[in-house]
Amino acid sequence: MAEVGLTTTIPVEVLLAAGETPVDLNNIFITDPDPEALVNQAERDGYPRNACGWIKGIYAVALRRGINKVVAVTQGDCSQTHALMETLQAAGVEIIPFAYPYDRDRQLLAAQIQRFMDYFGVTRQQVEETREKLKPVRQLCAQIDELTWKEGKVTGAENHYYQVCCSDFNGDVASFYTEAQQFYQEASQRPAGNVAVRLGFMGVPPIITDLYEFTESLGAPVVFNETQRQFTMIDSLGEDLVTQYQRYTYPYDVFGRIADVNRQAELRRLDGVIHYTQTFCFRQIEDLLIKPRVNCPVLSLEGDRPAPLDARNKLRLEAFVEMLQMRSVSSM
Ligand code: SF4
Repeated sequence: MAEVGLTTTIPVEVLLAAGETPVDLNNIFITDPDPEALVNQAERDGYPRNACGWIKGIYAVALRRGINKVVAVTQGDCSQTHALMETLQAAGVEIIPFAYPYDRDRQLLAAQIQRFMDYFGVTRQQVEETREKLKPVRQLCAQIDELTWKEGKVTGAENHYYQVCCSDFNGDVASFYTEAQQFYQEASQRPAGNVAVRLGFMGVPPIITDLYEFTESLGAPVVFNETQRQFTMIDSLGEDLVTQYQRYTYPYDVFGRIADVNRQAELRRLDGVIHYTQTFCFRQIEDLLIKPRVNCPVLSLEGDRPAPLDARNKLRLEAFVEMLQMRSVSSM
C-alpha cells in the first residue's frame, strides 16, 4: 500500500478500493506539531508571502513526508492548486488531476470518476463495495454531529475533527472507525450541554488553532461545521457514487452551499454564522454573495497562518456573540 496525497476531498472510495492509503495533506499539515515551520519552509523554497497558508503547508508537508503521488483537484477547489501541482511535479511528485465540473454535469463527473478508476485499475463494482463499507463510518460521524447540535455533548472542535477526517479516514478506515466508536460511546455519557448562543461555521476549515475553544469560552459553541459536514456525504449515502459526488456542495457554485447552510441554520436554530476565509484566497470574494443570502447574522473572519486568534479577531468575535445574545434576549 502506497500513500497517495490529497489536496481536498475526492472520491476516496476509488483509492481505498485500489488498496492505496489516502493522506489528506491538509490534515497532516495542520495537525503537525509545528505547522508554522512548514509554511516557513515553503517560503524558503520560494513560495511568495501572498500565497495561501494552506497551499504552502500542503506543499511542504508532502515533500517532507516523501509522498510521491498526489491527487490534485484542478477544478472545484482552489485557484492556487495549479501552481502547487507544478511545484510538486518539479520536485518529482507524480500528479493525478481530478476535476469537478462547475455545473455538476453528470456525464462530465462520471467521466472524471471513470478516468480516476482506470488510473488506479479498479472496477465500478469494487468501488461500490468500498462505498458500502464506508457507509457505517460516515453515518457514525453524522451521529457525532447530532450529539453536537441536538444534545450539546460534543464540542465544535471534536465535531470538526470527526467530520473533517472523512476526507481520508486518517488513511486507515478500521482504526478510525474504532476511534470514532469509542468517542461516540464516551460522548454519549456526557451531560447534555446548555447552549446560550448557537454558532455555525462556514468556509474552508480554519487555519486558526483555537477558534472553537474561544467561541466555546464565550458561551457560543459552534454546532454546525459546513464543509466538514459535507465531507461525511451524509445527505447522499443512499445514492450511487456519481450522485454522491454530484450532491456534495463544496466544489460547485456558492449558491448550493448557501442553500445547504440555510437548511442547516433553520434545523439547528443557529443564532449566527462565522464565514471563515483565508488570506489571499479567491473565496473572500464570495463573502459578498454569502452575507446577504444567509438567513442569520454573518461575521466574516480571516486567518492567514497557523496560529491562535489575534487580539483583533478575538474582539470581533466577542462583539458578534454579544450582539447575538442581545438579539435573542430582545426577541423573547
Ligand atoms: S483556502 Fe482558498 S486559496 Fe487556500 S487552499 Fe483553500 S481554496 Fe485554495
